[in-house]
Amino acid sequence: MGIIEKMRLDGKKGFVTGGARGIGKCTATAFAEAGADIAIVDLDIDEATKTANEIAKATGRKVIAIKCDVTNEDDVKAMVDKVVAELGGLNFCHANAGICINAPADEMTYAQWLKVINVNLNSVFLTDTIAGKYMLAHGGGSIINTASMSAHIVNVPQPQCAYNASKAGVIQLTKSLAVEWAKRGVRVNSISPGYIATDLIKASEFLKPLIAKWEELSPTGRLGTPEELESICVYLAGDTSTFTTGADFGLDGAFTCF
Ligand code: NAD
Repeated sequence: MGIIEKMRLDGKKGFVTGGARGIGKCTATAFAEAGADIAIVDLDIDEATKTANEIAKATGRKVIAIKCDVTNEDDVKAMVDKVVAELGGLNFCHANAGICINAPADEMTYAQWLKVINVNLNSVFLTDTIAGKYMLAHGGGSIINTASMSAHIVNVPQPQCAYNASKAGVIQLTKSLAVEWAKRGVRVNSISPGYIATDLIKASEFLKPLIAKWEELSPTGRLGTPEELESICVYLAGDTSTFTTGADFGLDGAFTCF
C-alpha cells in the first residue's frame, strides 16, 4: 500500500467542534474526503446542518450535525455519546471551536476575559477529556486541538490578551494530555495557524480593516486559507502519525518561525 492510501481514514469516525464554518468546516470536509464519517459539532445548528448535508453530498460519507455548546459539560458529554451511538465509535476529534474578543487589557471586562478563556481553553479541556476517556477505553485515538500563532507571539496592532493567553493554555494542555496518555494509545497534538481568511476575521468590523497591515507584516504577504490546514489534520487523525504526539504545528507562512 502506498503512502497516500496509508494516510486515508476509511472506517474511522470523528467529530469537529466549530465545524459549521471556517477552519472546522474545511478540516471536516477533508476528513470525509479521506474516508471518515464525521459529526459537525457547533452552537449554530442551522449552519452545522447545512455544512453536514453539503459534505455528505460531496463525499458520500455519513455526516451528521450536533448542536453543542462546547463550554457546557453536559452538552459535551451528550455530544460524544451521540457521536458514538450514531457513527458507531470515535477514533479522532478536532477541538476547534474558538472566539476572539479584542479589547485593551485595561479596558477588558472580567466577563469578556472569562468568556474567551471559557470558549477557547476550558472547552478544550472538556472536549479532550470526555472524548479522551472514550478513546482510552476503546483502543485509542487521536485528538487535534486548534491553538494559534497567538500562543507564541503577541499580535499587533490589535489588543487580544485573553485570546493569546487562552491559546498558550491550549498548547500546554495538549502537551500535558499527550504525556499522560502516551502509553495508553491516545495521541494529542495541536495546530497553530497564522492569520487565516475566515469569517472570524472577514465578518469582524474590528479585524477586517487590519488585514492590509497583517499582509504587510507577513513574510508571504498574504493571509492563509483554511484549505492550507487540511492535510496536516488528516495526517494527525490517521495511522501514519502514530509517533506524533505532544506536538504543535505552526501553519503561519513563516510569520513566527517558532
Ligand atoms: P469561525 O468564527 O469562522 O468559526 C468558529 C465556529 O465555532 C463557528 O461556527 C461558531 O459557531 C463555533 N463556536 C463558537 N463558540 C462555540 C461554542 N461555545 N460551542 C460550539 N461552537 C462554537 O472561526 P475560524 O477562523 O474558523 O476559527 C476556528 C478556530 O481556529 C478557533 O479556535 C480560532 O481561534 C482558531 N484560529 C483562527 C485563526 C484565523 O485567523 N481565522 C487563526 C488561528 C487560530
